[in-house]
Amino acid sequence: MALSRRGADTTALGGFGDPPPTGVPGFLPLTSGTPAAEALPVKELSEAAADVLGGPAAADALQYSGVEGTPELREWIGRHEEVAAERVLVTNGALHSLSLVFDALLDPGDLVAVEDPVYPLALRVLGRSHVGYLPVPTGPDGLDIDALARALEGGARPKVLYTVPDFHNPTGATLPAPARTRLVELAETYGFTIVADSPYRELRFSGEQVPQPSAESDAVVRVNSFSKTLGPGLRLGWIVGPRRLLPAVTRLRANQDQHSSTFTQAIAARLLTTPGLFDRVTADARALYGRRARALHAALHTALPGRIEAALPEGGLFLWAKVLDDDPDLHTARTRAHALGTDFGVGSHFSPPGGTGSPAHIRLGIGAVPEADVATAVGRLAEALRPETAR
Ligand code: PMP
Repeated sequence: MALSRRGADTTALGGFGDPPPTGVPGFLPLTSGTPAAEALPVKELSEAAADVLGGPAAADALQYSGVEGTPELREWIGRHEEVAAERVLVTNGALHSLSLVFDALLDPGDLVAVEDPVYPLALRVLGRSHVGYLPVPTGPDGLDIDALARALEGGARPKVLYTVPDFHNPTGATLPAPARTRLVELAETYGFTIVADSPYRELRFSGEQVPQPSAESDAVVRVNSFSKTLGPGLRLGWIVGPRRLLPAVTRLRANQDQHSSTFTQAIAARLLTTPGLFDRVTADARALYGRRARALHAALHTALPGRIEAALPEGGLFLWAKVLDDDPDLHTARTRAHALGTDFGVGSHFSPPGGTGSPAHIRLGIGAVPEADVATAVGRLAEALRPETAR
């Protein structure tokens, strides 16, 4: 595992390469990590907004509110996370949570352990802190804890480890429970903070839910969001912090924009505290994503027999596939895909500095293509991936 002290190249990492053509009729992008339009609770949020504006506390919902978030929303998140509401800070989404936590914890020159492959926008946020990177391999079972332990035993001293333990972006993998326990033990032994970012956690469509890294530990910060359940446009997320970190994060927030929208928090809290509603919204979303993931997985093996390796994820929005051709030119294939009316994520865009580069992998997302169109999109993908020699 190579250490890299280079800062993130934010322009290269954030843009996922050339933008796909937009506004092309019939374009079926297989890259999107945004939730499916059909899964978003438009009607439920519209009723919640009407209730807020028509209720006795309508004016309060349009007023300033506390830095940490409104009491109703913090209490709901606290119950959901099984922690005291005082441990919750409401933010403008998971990325905002990450920027607050990284700003509170990191100084220039610190070492940060990141997954390889990694969620590139987290690297963009980290890049602001001018840190160095310790890439840790991440495979079908999530972060490779043995590789991390070896690096630590070999003298690496990260201050922070950033991880997506549930339905990882881009691999779709989930870290098993014993590995989570071991990770917390390593953090406590070697004195680093785990920043566990779990926006896809509610989207499990098969298998058993795995407990989160323990919030009992002072070494664990949880970051999450309503982006993948209620909609990213709400810009509503949260941090569950250890008590040692909360004052610093709260101070930072107070010196930024003070607080997340009181109105948005009131609408979300109204929906969340209506008995059974959030469970129904997420159950419907899980069923939809399960159908799409299975359709995508089956279509890949039909359209690219023997040329692709991809596990069926148990949740989330991504499928990480390995193209088995010799030395595939995925950038050229992606340009061809755009002309054919589809898009995919090239593996190298998910490589941290010093990482492997994932040269044969592609990330496919199930957010934007309805089940009925999945086979068409994958047919275009297969054509785009056809090797030069076969053209
Ligand atoms: N973390 C991960 C792993 C993500 O995939 C995303 C969304 N693509 C985010 C954070 C950003 O979430 P939010 O919209 O809540 O800022």
